Amino acid sequence: MQCDCLQVAGDPRVPEYTQSCSIHHRQIAPVSPKRSNSKNPRQFGTRIGALVVGAGIVVIVLATLGLTACSRSTGSIPEDQTEWKGATVMMGIDGMRWDFPKAFALHSMSGIADGGVRAEALIPVFPTKTFPNFYSLATGLFPNHTGILDNTMYDPMFDARFRMGDTSAVRDGRWWEGEPVWVTAEKQNKRAAVYFWPGSEAEISGRRPTFSMPYDGSVPNDERVEQALRWLSLPSGQRPSLILLYFSTVDDAGHRHGPDAPETAAAAREIDALVGKLRSQLTRRGFGHTVNLVIVSDHGFSARSSDRVVYLDDFVDVNSAGILSLGQHVTLWPKPEAVDSVYFALANAHPELKVYKRENLPPRLHLAGHRRTPPIVAVPSAGWTVSTRRTDQRPQQFSGGAHGYDNIEPDMRGVFIAVGPAFRTGVRIDSLRAVDVYNIVTRSIGLEPAPNDGDASIVPRLLMN
Ligand code: AMP
Ligand code: ZN
Ligand code: ZN
Repeated sequence: MQCDCLQVAGDPRVPEYTQSCSIHHRQIAPVSPKRSNSKNPRQFGTRIGALVVGAGIVVIVLATLGLTACSRSTGSIPEDQTEWKGATVMMGIDGMRWDFPKAFALHSMSGIADGGVRAEALIPVFPTKTFPNFYSLATGLFPNHTGILDNTMYDPMFDARFRMGDTSAVRDGRWWEGEPVWVTAEKQNKRAAVYFWPGSEAEISGRRPTFSMPYDGSVPNDERVEQALRWLSLPSGQRPSLILLYFSTVDDAGHRHGPDAPETAAAAREIDALVGKLRSQLTRRGFGHTVNLVIVSDHGFSARSSDRVVYLDDFVDVNSAGILSLGQHVTLWPKPEAVDSVYFALANAHPELKVYKRENLPPRLHLAGHRRTPPIVAVPSAGWTVSTRRTDQRPQQFSGGAHGYDNIEPDMRGVFIAVGPAFRTGVRIDSLRAVDVYNIVTRSIGLEPAPNDGDASIVPRLLMN
């Protein structure tokens, strides 16, 4: 099992130099009860008793609604705002590369594409990582406008680090800028329900989805789909108009086994079967004419090899480089006085490595202009890995698959497929950018989109009038 996690000493302003890693940082996030400050055991016992009774009542109320796993567990879902007129369910499939549906014969997805709309490729945002991409899909904004510039970030104003495995950072609304689609829905009196999506655990613009879940990668995929169906079975006054679901199965297999492995094909087929199940259940339950289904992914995959590694310590003193992340792109926060020397040491160091100072990042990457933009960013060619020789060198370390490269790389492209009453039938477009998805999803349920970076002229090509 490979991983690019590093523990390197460096600039004290970036407290711990650890690249976030899906394998190490998988978390089970509990819904934590309010802490009692009481030291008096009797008083504490009474409070526990009250809590148990209270929790029991809440569980009974929620069980009747089929919502026991929801973090919004007050039991009091206010009655409707507006009449339920239909919904869009968006399934986010981590790591589903653009060519997997055809290459792995994913019949459910291909069926949806044939009966609805499909983009030959979804162009992700840079860096081609999970958090920036899922949050750009949700907001229609590029990373330098969402503040989610990477899975791992440093904010000089907060003097704090963000890691996707750090539950308190992930739930802290100050990191998340822009307006995600669930906030747009709630603002316009439609309910949103999210079974995992980066950003959905934080309060953004004073709002949260009506229903959301604390991230727990161990929840079976089937349960996520079942919960979506339970949400749709709520009385119409409480029923969500927007449901987002997230699945990491393909990403897990892609990292471990590589994009061309039979295990990755099996993971993609498992998710495809779920897509098929959701679609047929929607039809069986009479939602065929009211619910849209959107399948989207955050990035693709490249195969890695131990023959394609750039070692930073061959060119620069890693102690002064201020390494924040390594792997398929590199972010460096050296001390201000060391930025030039680190940059010049790396600039032409390796033919497979492009190195940018914050000031000369290509505008097409949409990474510059935020205070979280790293002073130095380096990007290897697809299939390459950037590491250091002092990192643990296990034989399998650079096998399997990876992503994070320049979003111009064909391997990094994802999928966009949609079907339902709001969508045209039999439409195929060459490509769609991740930032274009927000306009499509908001319009599919009659919402007015917030200002965003997407191209609104695509909407009438894909949606019915
Ligand atoms: P990446 O390697 O960039 O594709 O990251 C994939 C990993 O992100 C998954 O395996 C999960 O561990 C993690 N992840 C995805 N969504 C969330 C979330 N909402 N909260 C915390 N971690 C997440
Ligand atoms: Zn991902
Ligand atoms: Zn991944």
